[in-house]
Amino acid sequence: MPHTPENCKEVFAMLSQYLDLELPSDDCQAIEEHLAGCAPCMEFLESLKKTVKLCHECQPSTVPAPLTPEARRELEGAWKKMLERRGG
Ligand SMILES: [Zn+2]
Repeated sequence: MPHTPENCKEVFAMLSQYLDLELPSDDCQAIEEHLAGCAPCMEFLESLKKTVKLCHECQPSTVPAPLTPEARRELEGAWKKMLERRGG
């Protein structure tokens, strides 16, 4: 996967599923390959992991839930800013 802003957006679209381990392994591999060559996406994934972990820690008795729409919007905003910063 070449590292273009378009691909970064595709990766972002799959990331929450990726974190929930819901992606087929082919897609997981594509994401991991992209992340390996794309520092901004890797950084973003690290912050996403922290966010998800925090959510789970807040609700230890519940089954891990997908990101809330609010959290997703926040992450999307952060993602767009990140893409703007790198000039994409
Ligand atoms: Zn990327």
